[in-house]
Amino acid sequence: MSAKTSRRQLLSALAAGSAGLALGACKPKEQTAASPSHQKTVHWKMVTAWPRDFPGLGEGANFLAEAINAMSGGRLKVTVYGGNELVPPFEVFDAVSNGTAQMGHAAAYYWKGKVPEAQFFGAVPFGMNAQETNAWLYEGGGLDLWQELYAPFNLVPFPAGQTGVQMGGWFNREIHSIEDIRGLVMRIPGLGGEVLKRAGGSPKSLPGAELFTALQTGNIDATEWVGSYNDLAFGLYQAAKYYYYPGWHEPTACLECLVNKKAFEALPQDLQAVVRHATRATNAQLLDNLTARNKSALDTLIHQHQVQLRRLPDDVLAEFKKHAQAVIAELGASSPMAQRIYTSYRDFAQQVNGWMRISEQAYFQARDLST
Ligand code: CA
Repeated sequence: MSAKTSRRQLLSALAAGSAGLALGACKPKEQTAASPSHQKTVHWKMVTAWPRDFPGLGEGANFLAEAINAMSGGRLKVTVYGGNELVPPFEVFDAVSNGTAQMGHAAAYYWKGKVPEAQFFGAVPFGMNAQETNAWLYEGGGLDLWQELYAPFNLVPFPAGQTGVQMGGWFNREIHSIEDIRGLVMRIPGLGGEVLKRAGGSPKSLPGAELFTALQTGNIDATEWVGSYNDLAFGLYQAAKYYYYPGWHEPTACLECLVNKKAFEALPQDLQAVVRHATRATNAQLLDNLTARNKSALDTLIHQHQVQLRRLPDDVLAEFKKHAQAVIAELGASSPMAQRIYTSYRDFAQQVNGWMRISEQAYFQARDLST
């Protein structure tokens, strides 16, 4: 639905309302019958890539369902399923595509084997942060490209949860230099995994629920997950002591709400608007939730669980950055669609960075000056 169409409908609805007022209470029954509250209730299933009610991510899925239920006045009821309750975490894309569920909550980089270009919408190593990514998606043409990319799969994607800058991850040994990355087996999905591979590491992609056991049993030497709030909830400190920052690989992860295209188009336009605005509210809610909780979770990790907080060495970050630029450019050259997305992302990042340097970045530096 275009903004023009929705505005026209709004105006005609207002005009109809005015006419009704002008006629007094002549036809109250007809107006009531036409009101949205008398339309039939639609029931949707939302499958997710997270454990049910999981802090942060699962809470985001719950927030989205509750927002849709509330904003639609109960006309669109969404039931949330945790990972493996209806389908496994990594089958969310297919389940929504084929209509097993009408809606999903996951992350775009999980589908890189099927849609490599989707990685641009999940997380880009050394790429834009949450504020910049949102600006690209909503105001810079990013979301239009994302929806075009998923249309052949009978899916409509929406941004539905920015994580902000993540943590670098949990390591069972200290990282002193790039030499310590060689041979490191690490759970790290998406483009970050490819970067690690080029630096000599061995990336694995595992659903969140499998991380703890894999790290504890030594199947992996390291794992990233999200930030302190999510990581504390998984108990990863019991399996590895060294906790590294910053999350170079995910300067933000943009979670996605997948909607079955046929189911979406079958909704009346006001319910389509509800879904669209509820996802946008969820996109903000997750970032607020994690920003509010990460620091106290970090304090708990350090002071109650004796976690060793470390910054990744500069030479490690510099080598990761060099590989990241190559990996992203190669992905951008992999198909005509990838080229369009890459060009849009790169050009937007360049122009917005020019602003961010003299606004947010300069402000953080000014705020940190000693007085
Ligand atoms: Ca992550």
